[in-house]
Amino acid sequence: MHWADNFAKQVIERGAKEDYIVESGITPSGVVHIGNAREIMTQYFVYQSILKSGKSAKFLYIWDDFDRFRKVPKGVPEEFEKYLGMPLSAVPDPWGCHNSYAEHFESLIIQEMKQLNIEPVYLRAAELYGKGTFAENIKIALEKTEKIKELLNKFRKEPLADGWVPVGAYCEKCGKDFTKIEYLGGYKISYTCSCGNENEIDFREVTNVVNIKWRVDWPARWAYYGVDFESSGKDHKSKGGSWDTGVLISKEIFGYNPPVGPMYEFIHLKGQKEKMSSSKGNIATVSQLLEIYEPEVVRFIYAQRLNKTIFIPFDLDVYNIYNEFDKCERIYFGLEETDEDLKRKYELVRIKEYKTCPKRVSFSELVLLVQVVQKSELKNYISKMMKERGIEMDGIDLELAIERSKKVENWVEKYAPETVKIQLVDNKVEITEDQREGLKEIMELLKKNSSTDELQQQIFGIVKPKGKEFFQLIYQVLIGRKQGPRIAMLVDAIGRERVIERFKNL
Ligand SMILES: [Zn+2]
Ligand SMILES: [Zn+2]
Repeated sequence: MHWADNFAKQVIERGAKEDYIVESGITPSGVVHIGNAREIMTQYFVYQSILKSGKSAKFLYIWDDFDRFRKVPKGVPEEFEKYLGMPLSAVPDPWGCHNSYAEHFESLIIQEMKQLNIEPVYLRAAELYGKGTFAENIKIALEKTEKIKELLNKFRKEPLADGWVPVGAYCEKCGKDFTKIEYLGGYKISYTCSCGNENEIDFREVTNVVNIKWRVDWPARWAYYGVDFESSGKDHKSKGGSWDTGVLISKEIFGYNPPVGPMYEFIHLKGQKEKMSSSKGNIATVSQLLEIYEPEVVRFIYAQRLNKTIFIPFDLDVYNIYNEFDKCERIYFGLEETDEDLKRKYELVRIKEYKTCPKRVSFSELVLLVQVVQKSELKNYISKMMKERGIEMDGIDLELAIERSKKVENWVEKYAPETVKIQLVDNKVEITEDQREGLKEIMELLKKNSSTDELQQQIFGIVKPKGKEFFQLIYQVLIGRKQGPRIAMLVDAIGRERVIERFKNL
């Protein structure tokens, strides 16, 4: 059983409901990277699975943009220090292209998820607070301050100080949260700010001041929305971490059965040792993945087991990921020995539903083709090449191959090791009379209308008796290297006429 189905089952077993709620969220304090994306993807797969079992569900994504701006990350001008302590929704966009700092970082991942065909209902905490949505929760938290303290202190070395309250307050004058708060009962608090301002407010009426602190806000939100599923990363799952305290607070303060909430492991780029973080500046974005991976393949990567650290390759292992995806697809369509788990995995990661299995051109084959076939000829070439193998490519197949070739081009240009790079070079080569005769014979063959396979056999017949050096010479002449793919395939990729020209000029 795929893990997404397993969690969906656990969710449904919580009891009958009109809509099951799957929740995800993040503080938009910097670039949302491929590690953060694992949460969105995990929630998404479970959401899909709930829907598949015939139940109704909602997938909420909440931006914690009412959280304070606590640190200026790398890449943001230092002068932004002056906004520290304000809610992220009130900090301006450093690049001036969005309404706020928060929106700037939200917009990229929203676009990226859209490309992966993932579109949760996005909500903004600042707007929700602004509408007074959480006033009841604020009141409950304040009334039960002592009980919350007791629960949190269970895991703390230093108990929380006297006068601690489970909420913060943004000053109405300076906008920052360097405030001291006193609960006055009901819906009222008073605060004094380090800027000198002080006020007494009813937080049902003045809604842009009070926010609930994270460890209490999380379970408060589960209770408010009736959240049934929310996975989270390792950083929340340490003993006594925000998940543990969230579970206790959910039950004992808000009387809510906490959601099903597995932990997922980190994601790294292959070869990367350190944890990704915006402050270290060593992050990768989903956009970077999409440069070399098709959207469905990105989804495929994220559908792996949650307790496994994922290492996403940008090196030659890219081939393996694509091969695994293609294989999974063939299994789904019954073209390879069946495997129920992989079939289900494909169902979860596919974006389009094809009637028959797309006829794929492998990533590795395209690595050769994009380097030797002219771009304008690529579609025709692929069509012809596959036909010779007895495979009729239809319009969709060819489109998919061309889409893939774009990812391949990016990979070759930016990440491929030198060993797979091919250049059609006019390099000078030493050539013997015997070899020259051999090339002439090959040129004659090229003028005939033989298939690639026939050509391969015929060329082989000429080259073999002349020895290894002659093989190497041909590759040297064509791609400037001593070896390469099957000669006839290479010749056809380059074009027979171009090869004849090249041989003539030697
Ligand atoms: Zn912007
Ligand atoms: Zn102030």
